[in-house]
Amino acid sequence: MKNRTTTNEANVKPLLSFALVCALASVPASGAEPEYDVLITGGRILDGTGNPWFYGDVAVRNEKLVAVGRVPAGKAKRTIDAKGLIVAPGFIDIHSHSDDLILEDGKAQSKIRQGVTTEVLGEGRSVAPLKGKLAARKFAARGKVFEWSTLEGYFDVLDKEGASVNVATYVGLDNVWECVMGKSHARPTAKQLAAMRELIEEAMKDGAFGLSSLLMMPPGSLATTDDLVELCGAVKKHGGIFSTHIRSEGLDVFASVKQAIEVGERAGVPVDVIHLKIADEKLWGKMNEVVALIEAARKRGVNVQANVYPYTRGNNNLASIIPPWAHEGGTAKMLDRLKDAKQRERLKTDISKGIAGWYNHYTAVGGDWSRMLVSGRGTYEGLTMDRVIAAKQKGKEPKPDPLDILFDILIEEGGSVPTVFAHHDEKDMLFALKQPWCSVGSDGSAYATEGPLKRGNPHPRNFGTFPRVLGLYARDRGAITLEDAVRKMTSLNAAKIGITDRGTLRAGAFADVTVFDAATVIDKSTYEAPFAYNAGIEYVIVNGSVVLDRGTHTGALPGRALRAAK
Ligand SMILES: [Zn+2]
Repeated sequence: MKNRTTTNEANVKPLLSFALVCALASVPASGAEPEYDVLITGGRILDGTGNPWFYGDVAVRNEKLVAVGRVPAGKAKRTIDAKGLIVAPGFIDIHSHSDDLILEDGKAQSKIRQGVTTEVLGEGRSVAPLKGKLAARKFAARGKVFEWSTLEGYFDVLDKEGASVNVATYVGLDNVWECVMGKSHARPTAKQLAAMRELIEEAMKDGAFGLSSLLMMPPGSLATTDDLVELCGAVKKHGGIFSTHIRSEGLDVFASVKQAIEVGERAGVPVDVIHLKIADEKLWGKMNEVVALIEAARKRGVNVQANVYPYTRGNNNLASIIPPWAHEGGTAKMLDRLKDAKQRERLKTDISKGIAGWYNHYTAVGGDWSRMLVSGRGTYEGLTMDRVIAAKQKGKEPKPDPLDILFDILIEEGGSVPTVFAHHDEKDMLFALKQPWCSVGSDGSAYATEGPLKRGNPHPRNFGTFPRVLGLYARDRGAITLEDAVRKMTSLNAAKIGITDRGTLRAGAFADVTVFDAATVIDKSTYEAPFAYNAGIEYVIVNGSVVLDRGTHTGALPGRALRAAK
């Protein structure tokens, strides 16, 4: 009971005082050194559990919270007046892609300025393993060249170089698959599957929080349900979770959610469905049916949950319009196929008619090129594809087929053109967000509004995810309460992956704190002008150090690699 310092103030005052006296017994008497490094006073505390806010102070010493609620008087090196503001746990971004950008610039600007203090990396790809048929990574950043092949190698670099946020990661199925199989699309033998399982074990021992997968395209799409169950055996052994971008978010979304559930059920591991959505206009309005599948699974004891980002457009790549068979052998082989007239005809048929079981970004947006916005760096950044195609067709008779133009662009750009697809529906997104097991994750990276990390035309979720949920969907639209919004960004994400010392404000936890103005918090980044930070995020503290100070980044790099407990 004495740890219940973060529950409703009215219930626990006597216990609270007792706990604090105990906690502070070793502190020098007044007049000696300051007792607190940071003291946040007078705010409304939203402790991350979902409980209603209460007035109170928050005290930080070294890197931990030492008191939350009623804080005994004491000197503080730094006092932050939070009158009129909300004091919440730092946000945990359960689905982040900052893998590289965090090494380029540890300040993690677009995340810190959303109130994010921990990023969870990994989808199909993860920072490691990079061995066997996958070459070790050499990565130039901060005037140095870093090299690693294991998660521990990446963590070492991060811990040495520093970052403003904490970083956790899953191990990505694509890495594991390609370490063993290379770019081949052949079925793995039993021995090869065992080798993959071994790599997952190693990553779990290094501190991965589970296995993540992108089942929509190769190599993830090559894995059968049986393969996934087998590989998740290694995850179960170490208490991890299976985090999955499902096989299809379009016409096969129901079968794909069922597959994710089946993997969890048979392997005995918790499942988190990444960015739950229905990404085909033909099925819009049916999120209740997807939710019913998850609810039914939960009822029979399968721990399936999900996360969403608060937008109706997704980010993928124009290359995802190319069917899986044409990716075999890797990018160079795909480009060869795109150059071949005969193969182009087959591609056109498959793209416009679809292939059973393949999630087709082109048909998902009704073949409407205006719903594809090039987000990656390059010739076409910031343009919708209808405009690109019109420009390429101009003055030509007969007008070239738009799919030929697509192939040409992919060839021109080396096979990758990151693109935002307008393929899902707000009502579905909100229906998902309202579910108690649905948390918030950005699916974004740590960009910046200036310097080298201002590049391309990235999805606004990279900048605005968390303030958008707080400001637009909780405050303005009342879709969820502010308490629940904060819970979905903090304790729910911590609980999902088993982080026990962050995600709530309570004495003894690490001092990751976000202070924001509930009246003004809002995202500013748009699809057209993405490089904009948010309003209303005032202070961000990571491991006891102030990183965002009244909206100014202090340059502090107190984050660390978070390794899952073995
Ligand atoms: Zn994804």
